[in-house]
Amino acid sequence: MRLVFHELYEQFACTGSACIYNCCGGWQIPIDDETYVNMQQLTWYKSLFMTLMTKENRLGMTCIREINYRCPYVTKDHLCRFQKNGNMKLMPIVCQQFPRSAMKMGDNVEVYLMLSCCEAAKLLLQEPRRFDYVELSKEAEDEIQQWWAFKNDDENLYHALKEDEKMMLDLVWDKEQTLPQAVRCIYKMAFEKTMRYARADMAGARAVTPVSAPVYDVPEISGEGYGFYPLTFLNDIIYKKLSAPTMSRRNPPLYRMLTSYKAEYGKLSEAEGEQLFAQRARKSVAEHEKMWKAYYSYQLQQQYMRAYEDYYVLGPVLMANLLLEFFLLFWTVSEPKDIDEASVMIAGIERTIGNNGPFYTDILEMIRERYFTDIR
Ligand code: SF4
Repeated sequence: MRLVFHELYEQFACTGSACIYNCCGGWQIPIDDETYVNMQQLTWYKSLFMTLMTKENRLGMTCIREINYRCPYVTKDHLCRFQKNGNMKLMPIVCQQFPRSAMKMGDNVEVYLMLSCCEAAKLLLQEPRRFDYVELSKEAEDEIQQWWAFKNDDENLYHALKEDEKMMLDLVWDKEQTLPQAVRCIYKMAFEKTMRYARADMAGARAVTPVSAPVYDVPEISGEGYGFYPLTFLNDIIYKKLSAPTMSRRNPPLYRMLTSYKAEYGKLSEAEGEQLFAQRARKSVAEHEKMWKAYYSYQLQQQYMRAYEDYYVLGPVLMANLLLEFFLLFWTVSEPKDIDEASVMIAGIERTIGNNGPFYTDILEMIRERYFTDIR
C-alpha cells in the first residue's frame, strides 16, 4: 500500500477551543461500526442516551443526531466531551481524524485536509501556490485510521487520473492562460474524456489533452461570460437549494454570504448581475491571482479523484468549477477583511456545498437535466 499526503498536511494543527468556526455542528457526523458497538456496551442508561442521539441519514449511515445543529457531546468550551475525558473509543473515527481525509484507490491511498476546517483553509490562503502529494513519515501514516475505499480496482485508471491532474494543474498555473480560460479548457478536456470512457475507450480517454477540440460543447455553460455557469443557474441553486430557513443556524457563514448576495444582486436583473460579477471577478482574479489559482487547484485535486469510482471525470470538474464560482461570487459581494474571515468563508461553502455527498449528487443531476439531456 502506498500512502501519499497533500503537501499542506504536515503543517496542520487543530486550534481546539480557540477555533473561530468549530467543526462540531451544522453537518452530518457519521459513526463508524466500532464506535457504535462501543456505545452499545455502556451501562444501559448511557447507551440508551447514545442510541437516542443517533439517526440514519439518506445514505443509510448511522450519524450523530444534532441538537439545534450542534453535536450533543460538545462542551461549553467547544471541545469534544469524549476527547476531553480521554474516552476516545466513544469518539467517532471521522471526528478523531478530521480534517484529514483519506481515499483508497486500489493500492494507493491519498490523504488531504478538508477545507471544511477553517485552519486547513487558512493554510491554503497563507501561502497560495501549486501543491503536490508527497510521501511522509511512518508517524503520519499511523494517524490515518480510516479511509474511503472506492469500489473499483483499476490501476490504469488511477494513473490516468493522476496524469489528468498534472495536466489540469499545469494549465491553471500556465502564465499564458487566464483563469477563466483554464477553467473552460479543463471542462472541455473532461467532457471529451467522459465521452471516451462512456465507450470504454480507456486508451482514447488517456490520449485526450486539454488543447484538443471537444466532441460536443455546451455553449450556455462554457461560452460567454466571466463565470463558467450563468448567474441564472447559480440563482437556481441559491434559491432552491441553499435558502432553507434553517441555514442561519446550520451554517451561519454561508447564510451571511447568501444574505449579502441577495441584498445586492436581488435589486438587479440577471443581465446586470452578470455584468457586475464579470467586472468584479476580473478585478479580484487580477489582484489575487495566486490565491484563486491555488483554491481552484485544490478543488480539482480533491474532487477529480472521485472519478475513480465511476470513470465520470466530468462530474468532479463541474463541481470544482461550481465551488470556484461560488467563492468568487461571494468574495466579490463582501470581500473578507482578513485571512480569518476568508478561511471561514471557504469552510462555510465547503460544509454545505463541497463536502456534502447528497448535495453533490443533486447538483450533478440539476446540471445534467439542464445542459446535457441531448447527449447520448
Ligand atoms: S474546524 Fe479545524 S481547527 Fe477548528 S476545531 Fe475543527 S478541526 Fe480543529
